[in-house]
Amino acid sequence: MQADVVVVGAGPAGLALAARLARSGAGRVEVLERDQEPGGLPRHLHHGGFGRPPLPWLRGPEYARRSVGAALAAGASVRTGVTATGWAGPLCLETTGPAGLARITARAVVLATGARERPRSARLVPGTRPQGVMTSGELFQAVHAHGLPVGRRAVVVGAEPVARRAAATLRQAGAEVVAMITERPRGVAAVPGIPLLTATTVGELRGRGRPTGVLIHHRDGRTGLLACDTVVFTGDFIPDHELARRGGIPLDPGTRGPGVDASFRTAVPGVFAVGNALHGIERAATAAAEGAAAAAGVLAHLAGAPWPQPGPPLQVRAPLVWVTPNRLTGIARRPLLLRSAEAVTAPVVTVTQDGRPLWRRRLPLPASPSRSLRLPPRWTARVDPEGGPVVIALT
Ligand SMILES: Cc1cc2nc3c(=O)[nH]c(=O)nc-3n(C[C@H](O)[C@H](O)[C@H](O)COP(=O)(O)OP(=O)(O)OC[C@H]3O[C@@H](n4cnc5c(N)ncnc54)[C@H](O)[C@@H]3O)c2cc1C
Repeated sequence: MQADVVVVGAGPAGLALAARLARSGAGRVEVLERDQEPGGLPRHLHHGGFGRPPLPWLRGPEYARRSVGAALAAGASVRTGVTATGWAGPLCLETTGPAGLARITARAVVLATGARERPRSARLVPGTRPQGVMTSGELFQAVHAHGLPVGRRAVVVGAEPVARRAAATLRQAGAEVVAMITERPRGVAAVPGIPLLTATTVGELRGRGRPTGVLIHHRDGRTGLLACDTVVFTGDFIPDHELARRGGIPLDPGTRGPGVDASFRTAVPGVFAVGNALHGIERAATAAAEGAAAAAGVLAHLAGAPWPQPGPPLQVRAPLVWVTPNRLTGIARRPLLLRSAEAVTAPVVTVTQDGRPLWRRRLPLPASPSRSLRLPPRWTARVDPEGGPVVIALT
């Protein structure tokens, strides 16, 4: 098969990009989605708070329907049940779907594969492997998609916004949430009525067949056993970078997604990446905005614009853990996203290149490990394209 643009992933990012491209006359725009229904993560998120600004009454499934409707109305084609499994050439994807194995060649490929949650085994928690131990994604699927019962006493491992959603879902399904646990020492909002144990880690899971408890360790040396029959691990999202890795697309060590420049171009000519595939969980509107913004770069590529040499890399210093975009070719027009591993009440950001200060400013919002900071892009005009790495630090 041939297309002008293939977008892998029909979530908010891929659909917003497909809609913008199809409306702009990009030619044949094919969106591939491995699920049976398009719409991405929001399809399974039945709470309100989607859209920009977040609308309390706009629930995930309705938001997903609108995103799909906009892409189809613009003229993009959305094929479901089709997984891109690998690469047969630089801009040729191998797929598997209802019609069997196929290859699709395009003039541009966009990775909009979202983020995935790392399962408990990946976090090396020892103990038994009873039923009733799940990730938040599995919890949302079980409750919202399949209407399955959860247990009666649950522990949520995590305390970031996704953990709070998980706690709400457990309560909605009739379970008592006996505790939320986080290894963070502070800077975490509690949920009314649920004990929040900070500076605490899970030592071991107990129980056969079904969990009977969680052994916990507090940083000061205290231990305890929380009796429960359900354990939900949350918030450990990383970009779904499998396809990028198979295509030899360099990943950024901080985000663990494909490294991109400010136009969402990866290091491989013709291949772009957008949305949570770049950085892990952000709001749906942020992912969709990235998708829409990437259209300009894709259209320029289709029109024959040369693929630029990678510009100076962007690097972060602790407590910052990542920045996106990861390289600067030209001037960024959108704010850069930054994530800190620690809470900082009044963060001051400095940007330097080869020891030369480019920017210094106190940001209006506190830094938090569960929310990205937005860095205005004006200073990017001062970057020397031939210079060394641009270093971003937070104090
Ligand atoms: C618990 C939770 C609560 C949230 N609540 C909110 C909220 O209230 N408001 C808000 O704005 N945002 C919320 N979000 C965030 C929002 O859902 C995401 O930011 C958004 O869905 C990201 O869009 P995306 O397109 O990047 O990725 P996704 O929505 O994850 O879409 C990626 C798509 O790519 C597909 N895919 C992946 N690999 C392949 C492949 N190889 N071949 C074919 N298809 C593939 C996947 O099946 C998926 O459909 C929440 C997220 C979570 C986890």
